[in-house]
Formats: sequence, C-alpha cells, structure tokens
Amino acid sequence: MVEEYAMVAQTLSRIVTPLLVGLKHLFMTPVTVKYPYERVENVTGENFRYDPKAGIAYPGYKGRHILYLDKCTGCSLCDIACQNIAEAIIMVYGFNVTISFNKEFYEMFKKGDGAAVNFVESIVDSLVKSTDKKRYSSHPVVPFAWSDIRTIQQKGEMYEWKLNLEPVYDYRSEAIIEKYLGDFLGWARSEGWDDEVIEVEGADKEDEYHRLSKGGMAAILAVTKIDEKLAHNKKSYFPAVDYGRCVFCGFCVDACPFYALEMTSEYELSATDRMSLLYTPRKLAGPPKTQPPAELGWIERIQTILRWR
Ligand code: SF4
Ligand code: SF4
Repeated sequence: MVEEYAMVAQTLSRIVTPLLVGLKHLFMTPVTVKYPYERVENVTGENFRYDPKAGIAYPGYKGRHILYLDKCTGCSLCDIACQNIAEAIIMVYGFNVTISFNKEFYEMFKKGDGAAVNFVESIVDSLVKSTDKKRYSSHPVVPFAWSDIRTIQQKGEMYEWKLNLEPVYDYRSEAIIEKYLGDFLGWARSEGWDDEVIEVEGADKEDEYHRLSKGGMAAILAVTKIDEKLAHNKKSYFPAVDYGRCVFCGFCVDACPFYALEMTSEYELSATDRMSLLYTPRKLAGPPKTQPPAELGWIERIQTILRWR
C-alpha cells in the first residue's frame, strides 16, 4: 500500500513539477531579445582594443573597425598583419579627379559642337559603366559619387570640372584612371585625340596628369592626391577595410602600434552590393551605428521598453 502511495506521489510530482516550471517562466524576464528592435549589449561596454605598450589586448566586441585618423601614421602594419589572414585591408590615398578645358574647348562645348559634347558624354559613360562593371567584382572599387558638368568653374585660363564629390580612395592614381576612365581614354584615342602623360611642376609623385588635345581644343585630366596635412601621416596614407573578406579576427588591431585601430560593437554590416562592403578611411573613422532601426514603430518601442512579448 505504501509503495502504491509513493508511486502515485511520484507520478503526480512528474506531472506538476514541469507545469510549475512553465508557470514560473511566464513571470520571468525572457532571455531572448527582440532583434532587430533590441540589441545584445556589449558585455564589456568597450571596443576590442590592444595596448601595445602594456602588451595587453582588452576584451570587447569584434565588430566593424574604427580608425582614429588623428593617430594613424600610415605605417601599414595592420595591412601586413591581415595579408596572411584575409587580405581585407588595402592601404589607400584619397584623390581628387578633375578635368580642365581650355577656353576654345569650353566655348565649343557651350555652342554644342559635336566633338566637345561627345568628349564630355564619353567621360560620363566611362564613369557610369566602370562603377557598374566593378559592382560585383572580387575587389570592389570604392564607391563614390560623381558631380555633373554644371559644377564647372573658371580657374584662370581654364575651366575646371571636379568630377568627384567625395575623395576617391585607391592605392595609386593609375588605378583610378584604369578603373574609371580607361574606357574614356580608349575612346578619345580612337577618335583622334592626342593623349600625352605630362609632368607638372610641384606635383606629388602619386599624381597623374593626361593632356588630351585635338585641333585647338585641349583638356587636362588630373588625378591628384589629397594632402590631409597631418604631421604624423605626411603621406596621407590610410587603411580601408573590405568587409567582404574580413573574418573579424582582430589581428590588425593587435598589430597597430599607435592605438589607431579598434573594433566596435557594430555588427550589422550586410549590404546588397559588393561595393558597400568596402569601408574607406573616412567611413571607418565615423562613429559606429547604435540606433534602433528606423522602422521601429511607437507600439514596438513601448513593448521594447516594457519587455512585453
Ligand atoms: S580583423 Fe579583418 S581586417 Fe583585421 S586582420 Fe582580421 S581579417 Fe584582416
Ligand atoms: S591603423 Fe595603425 S597599423 Fe594601420 S596604418 Fe594606421 S597606424 Fe599603422
């Protein structure tokens, strides 16, 4: 009889205990988060960083990097550290791309002369095509926006059209010519324009100038390095990170001897095209995004605050 009571008690316990556990969890704060409306907190509250003097790496989330431009010397040690990991870092300069027309060219263009108009249209075509062509390539070009011809300005004897709105980042000026303006130069040569690479007094060794001429019309295509005027980085040479390759190992942070590189808790880096995964030095220098997504409505906001699911 005693054994029978014990068995009944055990059976009842097996039924009631899970019910009580379930009931208890109804009143507990859930451990899951309502992503993307809620974010997992960075446990340390700090970026992953390395102190080269103390030889200590401080724990923190290894999300996208932050680059402190005021500390980076352009030493390339982060790039070297990454070379055997993912080759995700590219050391780059910032460039301006301008095309200057002589008076005769400008007046012909204003009059709607075929040769001058085709010349300008070919530049625009080349820029548009090259950006599309490189959009899905394994080595993306740095995305940037082009200005239109209406921004042309008179500079002395010439009329200057600055093509880029933002600095164009790449490892050398020839690469910019090849990637964005190669089609245009090919077209110009085939149309009988003389294309001559010229030396300009006082130019930086990274700069490149092409003089294009036909009859009395002449234009100078110039790719000139932007001098950020930083005493500690005289070459204005910075790392860019390709997040299509980065494995977030943090070796580059460990290799930086100047406290210029850290990893933040920004982990939402997905993009719909390859180009957006390449972070230029300027983009890396920006603060990480920590705001909730824009689509969060006021009801979800209240729910999130109350943790009511
Ligand atoms: S964290 Fe990314 S960029 Fe840095 S070394 Fe690792 S793979 Fe390269
Ligand atoms: S981030 Fe650091 S390691 Fe990389 S180039 Fe700048 S100073 Fe050198």
